[in-house]
Amino acid sequence: MQHCSFCKREVQSTLHLKDSFRVDYFQLVFGKTKRIDTGEDKDKHTGKSWYLQVIVPKEYIVCIDCRAKPQILQLILSFPEPNQMPDA
Ligand SMILES: [Zn+2]
Repeated sequence: MQHCSFCKREVQSTLHLKDSFRVDYFQLVFGKTKRIDTGEDKDKHTGKSWYLQVIVPKEYIVCIDCRAKPQILQLILSFPEPNQMPDA
């Protein structure tokens, strides 16, 4: 069984129904990164000509309850370093 990396609750697999589905968790990959310059024009979506490559990936689980918490969503969207994340 898998558990949320934040609240440790057991998460359920995605439930597929006739006309919908229910997601209980998301799997995330973060880790130590290094900056890769593309040497090209700025990307039209990000406005950057570089990206962060994960060189030591680590997987995390976030349940939908934790993902709904503003401080956790903000942390996830900031592409955190490993020392900012809970022990997986
Ligand atoms: Zn959780």
